[in-house]
Amino acid sequence: MKRIILIVAFFCSVACASAQKKKAIFIIIDGVSKDVLEKVSTPNLDAIAKEGGLLSAYQGGELNEYNQTPTISAPGYDNVLTGVWFNKHNVPDNSIKNPNYHYPTIFRLFEDQFPKKKTAIFSSWEDNRTKLIGEGLEQTGKILLDHHFDGLELDTVKYPHDESRKFMSAIDQAVTDDAVRSIRETAPDLSWIYLEFTDDMGHMYGDSEQYYDAVKLADRQVGQVWAAIRERKEKYNEDWLIMVTTDHGRDLETGKDHGGQSERERAAWIVTNASGLNDYARESNQVSVVDILPTIARFLKVKLSSDRQRELDGVAITGKLSLTKPVATMVDGKINLSWLPAEKEGRVKIWVSTTNNYKETGKSDKYSLAGVVPVKDGKFTIELDPNTSSDFYKIVLEGKYNTVNRWIAAK
Ligand SMILES: [Zn+2]
Repeated sequence: MKRIILIVAFFCSVACASAQKKKAIFIIIDGVSKDVLEKVSTPNLDAIAKEGGLLSAYQGGELNEYNQTPTISAPGYDNVLTGVWFNKHNVPDNSIKNPNYHYPTIFRLFEDQFPKKKTAIFSSWEDNRTKLIGEGLEQTGKILLDHHFDGLELDTVKYPHDESRKFMSAIDQAVTDDAVRSIRETAPDLSWIYLEFTDDMGHMYGDSEQYYDAVKLADRQVGQVWAAIRERKEKYNEDWLIMVTTDHGRDLETGKDHGGQSERERAAWIVTNASGLNDYARESNQVSVVDILPTIARFLKVKLSSDRQRELDGVAITGKLSLTKPVATMVDGKINLSWLPAEKEGRVKIWVSTTNNYKETGKSDKYSLAGVVPVKDGKFTIELDPNTSSDFYKIVLEGKYNTVNRWIAAK
């Protein structure tokens, strides 16, 4: 009898844990560079980081590379939403004229696989839903989130646009209040909170007490959300992932501006409660905001097709990886590849394509296998056939646990 009870207890500890409902939420606090986050007292973000970590994470794509991305708000959000940089998502500024919806947001990936699960956005800027997520558009399969709370900035009667921009602070609080209520009552499976006031104070006052106070206020709002999540975890035994980040830093001289590629404008961060941060997250001291999508996808068990995996610019910061940090350079009819092995065993398949169908039409590219080598080698040379030379190459490195890619365009 005792043995049976023990066996039941063992299976419950395995099965009951896996039956735990998984919920993910990410928060973007606008325009807070890493140095400011470290300077200003943010006890709530610290409490979350204590469970997982506070990571340096760059915005802006890779410096001077083909995927360099303006350190502007909407591109910064879209880097997070799509897990790819500007050369793919095609959002270079806040007008969001022509996003490339072939690169799906995390909401699209999640809704496509789990249509019955609940998604939500709580946002101080309506374009995040209508343009970046592309709600209701043909190109996004007419995605509809289950709940949205946004557009308050368009209501100039209830929120008259005063010069001090206090109305924006009031909107952030209303957005936070709705998120807290929603988490307590229905707990969406995937949600995004966007808070703006910090950037307004940065633009108006630069590095100043006003700006720092706005950061403290955002921290308290995150604290309200975190309290609601902790309540859910206790009451309903849910497994929550929270990832908090920013869309860009600020200029070094005054702190009023952003948009360029200075170190401080690129200096973003991720605060998360995620357990099981991998060596890449803990040791590289330089993850990036495009890593948020693969991390959430892994947590929520969103399956990514090989076409999608071959385009993603980020890697998960939790769990196993095969390789990171690929570099590709073309010299004398050869492509020299290198990467950082994350595992000692296993092989990496190296694929090459000269088509760019995925970006242009959303369809698969024609890849050929250039080699299969032990991942621990960390390098490979592709000998190009001079008879079939191209001015564009996509190189994909496919490991057991993750896939990374580089593009080369002839200058
Ligand atoms: Zn911004």
